[in-house]
Amino acid sequence: MNPLPAEQLRETLSDPKLQLAIYDATGRLMQKRKTSIQPEVIDDFQQYRDQANRIKKHTIENLDYYLEQLERNLIARGGRVLWAADAEDAKRQILELARQKGVRKIVKSKSMTTEEIDLNESLEHAHIEVVETDLGEYIIQLAHERPYHIVAPALHKTRYQVADLFTEKLGVEREEVIEKQTMIARRVLREKFLAGEMGMTGANFLIADSGAVVVIENEGNARLSSSAPRIQVAVAGIEKLIPRAQDLATFLKVLGRSATGQPLTVYTSFLSGPRRPGEIDGPEEFYLVLIDNGRTRVLADKDKRQSLYCIRCGACLNHCPVYRKIGGHNYPWVYSGPIGAILSPQFHGVAKDPWLPYASSLCGACAEVCPVKIEIPKILLELRREVTEEKTRQGKTGFEKLAFRIWSWVMCRPSLYEFGASAGGALFGGATEWLKKSPLPIKVPPLENWLAHRDLPPPPPRSFRQLWRERQALRDRTGGAPGKDQLH
Ligand code: SF4
Repeated sequence: MNPLPAEQLRETLSDPKLQLAIYDATGRLMQKRKTSIQPEVIDDFQQYRDQANRIKKHTIENLDYYLEQLERNLIARGGRVLWAADAEDAKRQILELARQKGVRKIVKSKSMTTEEIDLNESLEHAHIEVVETDLGEYIIQLAHERPYHIVAPALHKTRYQVADLFTEKLGVEREEVIEKQTMIARRVLREKFLAGEMGMTGANFLIADSGAVVVIENEGNARLSSSAPRIQVAVAGIEKLIPRAQDLATFLKVLGRSATGQPLTVYTSFLSGPRRPGEIDGPEEFYLVLIDNGRTRVLADKDKRQSLYCIRCGACLNHCPVYRKIGGHNYPWVYSGPIGAILSPQFHGVAKDPWLPYASSLCGACAEVCPVKIEIPKILLELRREVTEEKTRQGKTGFEKLAFRIWSWVMCRPSLYEFGASAGGALFGGATEWLKKSPLPIKVPPLENWLAHRDLPPPPPRSFRQLWRERQALRDRTGGAPGKDQLH
C-alpha cells in the first residue's frame, strides 16, 4: 500500500516556477479548447460528444468482435498482429522481434501505451538504442523523466531548463530561443531517423473495417518514424478500436479541439500494412502489438468499463483543479489527472494507492469537458466505496465506524443535537481564535496542515434552528411572511 507522497507534493506546491508553468500551460490549453468549440466555428460540438460516446460504448461492448475483424483485415493487407496479455509479454515479444531482425536502433513517436509498459527501459537494457522523436518526449527522455501530461509530456519544463538540458546532454551551445531549440532537436533527430532500423508508433485509433492504425500528431515525426525504417511496429491498447473508417470523422472533430484547441491536428496518418508493390516508401514489414495489460478486467466491470472510452486528449487534466496544483509527477502512474485517478486503481487494484480516488474535489469539470463523456466523478465515488470496503476487510475502519455510529445516534435525538451544536459552536469559536493566535503546543497534523493553508471561519453567532425559530415567531407576530432582511 503506497502512502500519499506528502513530501513530494509539498515540494510541487511550494515551487512558484513550477506552479506558474503548470497553471500557464493548462490555462492556455483550456482557453484554446473553449475558443475552438464556439458555435461560430463548429455547429453543436455537444452532438459530436454524444456521438463519440455512443460509438465508444458500442465498440467496447462488442470488443471481441471488432478485435477479430481488425486482425483479419490487417493480415489481409500483409501486416501481422502480436497479442500481448500484459506488459511483460508485450516487451518480450517486441524484444524478440527486434533481435530476430537484427535491430539495434529504434526511432519512436509518442505513445502512452509504451510508457505504460516501460518499453524503452527494457530495450535499452538489451543494448538497443531507442530515440523518442516527439520534441516533448525527446526532452523528457534526455531528462530521464516520465511524461508530465498525456498530451504535453514536457509541460513542466521552462525553455531555460531545456537550454541547460540540451547543453548538458547534446553538448551544444546554450540556446534559450524555443525555435532555435527546436532546430537543434530537429538536426539531431534527422540523423536518428535515417539510421533507424525499426520505427515504432502508438495508435490513436484502430479501425476494424479497414485494418488500419491511425496516428494523429503535429510534428510529422510519427509519419517519418513509420515510413523511413524498414520495420514498422505500432503498439496499442485493445480499447483503441473504432468500428468503421467513417466513425473517425466524429473523433477527429472532438480530439484535436479537446486536446490543443485545434480543429484538426497537422498530420493524420493511416498505417495499414507494409509497402505494396509499386509504392515508393513505407516499411517492408508491419506489426501491430495489441496489449491487454488489465483492460479486459476493466471491461468485465459493467459500471466502470466506460473508463476504456478514453481517447487520451488530456482535457480532463487541464480542467482539473487538483492536477493544476499538484502536476503530473505526483500521480503514481504514467496516466495522471482525473483519468489517471480512475485508471490506476482499476489496473493496479484500489489497495495500492488508496488515496488516489480522493485526489479530486468532485467538481465535475472533467466530465463536463470529456469528449467521450466518461462519467469520471461517478467512477471516483465508486472507487472510494471500494477503498472503504477494502479498509473494512483489513479492519482499518474501526474509528470511522464508531464516529458514524455516534453521529447517527445523536442525529436521532434532536434536543441532544441542538445542545451539542450550540455548546460545540461556542467552544469551537473560542478554539478557532486560540488556534489562530497561538503556535500549536500540541502537534495535531491534520489540523495543523489544514490551518496552514486555510482561514478557519468562526461559527455563525446563531444556528439555523435559532434563526428558524425567530422566523416563526416573527411570522406569528406579523401574521405573514417576514422580509428577508428582517432575519439578519
Ligand atoms: S478521460 Fe476524457 S477528457 Fe480525460 S483524457 Fe480521456 S478522453 Fe480526454
